[in-house]
Amino acid sequence: LDDRGFLGHPSGLGTLFNAELWERFSYYGMRAILAYYLYTAVSEGGLGIDQPTALSIVATYGASVYLLSVVGAWLADRVIGAFRATLYGAVVIMLGHVFLALPIAAMSWVGIATVALGTGLQKASISAVVGQLYDREDGRRDAGFSIFYMSVNIGSFCAPFVVTFLKDRWGFHAGFSAAAVGMAFGLIGLFVFRKHLHGAGTNPTSPLTAAERGTVMRRVGLGVVGVAAVAAICFALSGTTANGVINTVTVMSVIAAVGMFAMMFKSPKVSAAERRHLQAYVPLWIGAALFWMIFEQAASKMAAFAAERTDLGSIFGIKVNAEFFQSVNPLFVVALAPVFAAMWLRRAGKFPSTGAKFAFGVLMAGLSFVLLAFYSNLWPHGPTAPMWALASVFVVQTIGELCLSPVGISATTKLAPAAFTTQAMALWYLTSAVGQSAAAQAIRLMEGLGDTTFFLTLGLITAGFSLVLMALVPWIGRHMRDVEAVKTA
Ligand code: GLN
Repeated sequence: LDDRGFLGHPSGLGTLFNAELWERFSYYGMRAILAYYLYTAVSEGGLGIDQPTALSIVATYGASVYLLSVVGAWLADRVIGAFRATLYGAVVIMLGHVFLALPIAAMSWVGIATVALGTGLQKASISAVVGQLYDREDGRRDAGFSIFYMSVNIGSFCAPFVVTFLKDRWGFHAGFSAAAVGMAFGLIGLFVFRKHLHGAGTNPTSPLTAAERGTVMRRVGLGVVGVAAVAAICFALSGTTANGVINTVTVMSVIAAVGMFAMMFKSPKVSAAERRHLQAYVPLWIGAALFWMIFEQAASKMAAFAAERTDLGSIFGIKVNAEFFQSVNPLFVVALAPVFAAMWLRRAGKFPSTGAKFAFGVLMAGLSFVLLAFYSNLWPHGPTAPMWALASVFVVQTIGELCLSPVGISATTKLAPAAFTTQAMALWYLTSAVGQSAAAQAIRLMEGLGDTTFFLTLGLITAGFSLVLMALVPWIGRHMRDVEAVKTA
């Protein structure tokens, strides 16, 4: 079908663009104030949790969103199709934000869990529908994903301003209500413009057959028992409920990632060539997990740095709120993504290969935290660091992101075994789950060591791994030569 209804792309991309924009608006809007909500004193409208625990919870919330995409992706590939998973996800997310908008502390936890569940249904699924808008040989696919990545960042750029405006006037719950309204817009658009998708994502890619049903049901049952057992052990060993949740999500993220790789390596549906691609994917995957470990701390450690260590002044006469720092990254993504896309297009088939781009992206993440450690050491007390300091850390991370994230999504759709379309997307998002779990653990383990040591340690580990990745670039290139070649054609 030669549909060029949306910026030269299938008009269905417009439907998904709108849906993702609002979903990310709601996700990042809520996330911009979540840490502050958790650690602000009860007398000031927060939940009054101690700060390290609050920041660990934020990281764990981020991890569970991406961890649950495994469940959503499985349902999409095997039972309901990626479109329905996207649609149902939108309903669940909206409900979650409505719960958060209620001024009842207990409902906040229900809301957080509900949003995580809905995002898990939607996040990988919606990207899989994007992939299905294009035929395998359609050269517009990469550009399509780049446009789609714009919707993510337009949504996440705007959200902190709107949410903070409401929060400052009427409190945290009013802020959360903006997220609910945003998600409602996304849901309505998805429903009204669903025809433009021309059936993309309607059918599961690998539907469950009647013969399989019994075995699969038994396995799902076993899986549920397994998760319950992991949770029971984690809670028994952790002392507090918060630690129980944090540890359960960490352990489950690692198990999910290892399990998913094992399943794909062993599946008879995976060809020898696909298995070779999967091998190349392993070091890229580890690099991406380290990248997100640092990057996603925008909402935890870096949010705290903005609120407590940065001298917040005004820009163009507008008073800068700590939350506004959440918009620095999406602003620079929108500004720089076209530059990077053009650069990658011009250099397609030449240096830098996928592996080299990843290595550079991971290096940038590592260096960004080394830089933050330096600033933290330079302005060690109170809110004294200038605003440009934290902003520059976000900019360095954004340059890294543009080398790693769109490249990673595109590599995932190309390296993915055909039978595992949405699940391969979920494997990609598991980098964010494992990365943020690592962050949640690091925040608690290094609680007493001070910010400078914290940032320096994570920065050096990550930068160190980028060197390993650099050494592996030729090996990775050999393993994925056939798919990289498609790109130059
Ligand atoms: N900012 C991007 C998004 O929200 C990437 C996030 C991630 O993969 N961890 O989609």
